[in-house]
Amino acid sequence: MTAIVSEETKLRDEIVEVGSSLFDRLFTFGSTGNISARLSNGELLMTPTNACLGRLDPARISHLDNNGQLLSGDKPTKEQFLHMAMYEERPQSGAIVHLHSTHSVAVSCLPEVDPCDCIPPLTAYYVMRVGKLPLVPYHIPGDPALGDAVRGLAGQHSAVLLANHGPVVAGKNLEAAVYATEELEETAKLYLLLRGENPRGLTPEQVAELEARFPRD
Ligand SMILES: [Zn+2]
Repeated sequence: MTAIVSEETKLRDEIVEVGSSLFDRLFTFGSTGNISARLSNGELLMTPTNACLGRLDPARISHLDNNGQLLSGDKPTKEQFLHMAMYEERPQSGAIVHLHSTHSVAVSCLPEVDPCDCIPPLTAYYVMRVGKLPLVPYHIPGDPALGDAVRGLAGQHSAVLLANHGPVVAGKNLEAAVYATEELEETAKLYLLLRGENPRGLTPEQVAELEARFPRD
């Protein structure tokens, strides 16, 4: 029992710390964005609805059972269903970050992006942390069909980009999910900087070598 309590307390503090760091560095703003993490018993911790990631209270974080029912804390984010869809398809994932980060959203609005893979493999770390990034078609906020669309891709992809909305990124733990989200946002920025410049990305052989040597979860 003691071990479970300490794991939960540690994760609550980690969510608060990560939220504040992402907010301070302008990866998120207002009350947008949400973070969740899975405990070893399958229960979830999730940021509450209308919470600002820069000012989270560890005691008020939503604690949910394996099926997403609230056990304690504030009501979870209205985007809970995005997290549930990812967890259901990715038993290996221990945390999920969803942001409305500006450069990723900008890419999600471009007409020319490949819906199977929105950002070309510009750097090795992008390939290692994010890989292929599919675009999920636009849905009105809260539409459960958006959860189904994410569910259909989450088994094959640790990150998806919601059109005109933002990324949803899973990782084996919270640190991995945050690093992958940051890598995605910075690569989206690079992609926008290089638009129209005909940049030299990594070749399919270079991508295959990275995939073989550094498999993602
Ligand atoms: Zn959102």
